[in-house]
Amino acid sequence: MSKVKYYYDSETLSYRKIERKKRRTFKFAAMFILAAALFGFLFVFIASQYVESPKERALKRELANMQLQYQLLNKKMDEAQTVLSSIEDRDNNIYRLYFEANPIPEEQRKAGFGGVNRYKNLEGFDNSKLIIESNKRIDILQKQIVVQSKSLDEIAELAKEKEKLLAAIPAIQPVRNEDLTRMASGYGTRIDPFTKARKMHWGMDFTAPRGTPIYATGDGVVTRADNRSTGYGNHIRIDHGYGYVSLYAHLYKYNVRKNQKVKRGDLIGFVGSTGRSEAPHLHYEVFKDEQRINPINFYYGSLTAEEFNELLEHASMENQSLD
Ligand SMILES: [Zn+2]
Repeated sequence: MSKVKYYYDSETLSYRKIERKKRRTFKFAAMFILAAALFGFLFVFIASQYVESPKERALKRELANMQLQYQLLNKKMDEAQTVLSSIEDRDNNIYRLYFEANPIPEEQRKAGFGGVNRYKNLEGFDNSKLIIESNKRIDILQKQIVVQSKSLDEIAELAKEKEKLLAAIPAIQPVRNEDLTRMASGYGTRIDPFTKARKMHWGMDFTAPRGTPIYATGDGVVTRADNRSTGYGNHIRIDHGYGYVSLYAHLYKYNVRKNQKVKRGDLIGFVGSTGRSEAPHLHYEVFKDEQRINPINFYYGSLTAEEFNELLEHASMENQSLD
């Protein structure tokens, strides 16, 4: 049904059709659409201030999750820091102390990074502080781990050195206890078996039958195995490094040659009575920095307390040496 509208024309006294201009109709329509669109936009804009879109909600959730994850990471960093601090503590107070290395000062271990601001690109966000703080912590933690790792490398090196030193020091008895006839004479003033005069005896005499095995008392290098030294007869010198030299005299036979490397406990020769000697025995001396010292102080590694006391008693008796 077409909606044709009429109006009453008082001049002509008749109803006349209302003629609407097409252009006007179009103008009305355009205005209506514009107004509707404007209203719509306004509505959505205002609504969006109070109502979240699904996308916004998802982003917010993600942000909250990220913050939570950062907090959890910080907690894990706390734990790692605690463990590392305990390692550093032991490093400074036990390992480094034991190996006579200076402790690493706290400032050096926990030094941050000076100069340029490494975190500039992280600035200017809502969560900048959290992210920068976390980054700083992990950077310091990383540096601490590097310092600690280097310290342990150093300790390992020192331990190896100490092990070498311990292996080098002449620390066992050169003749087995069960092979000994007796401990004839110790270090100190003794009666010379030939002149019967009191004089300094610079080593220890171990009486044992001819051919009894003699062992190197520490790791080292044989520097001499000959009889070209007055009085000692066939004798061996071992240079142990660190200023230690051991000497084995009056040998019957050698089991090593000059420049040979030996380990503690290696068979180096056999007991005899060559040189200025009264009866088969081993005359044993220890040098530290070219000074002869009492070898008895070095047997702690191989003897029980009882055996050591017995040895000490025998060695300290002022008797006649065998030279
Ligand atoms: Zn002697």
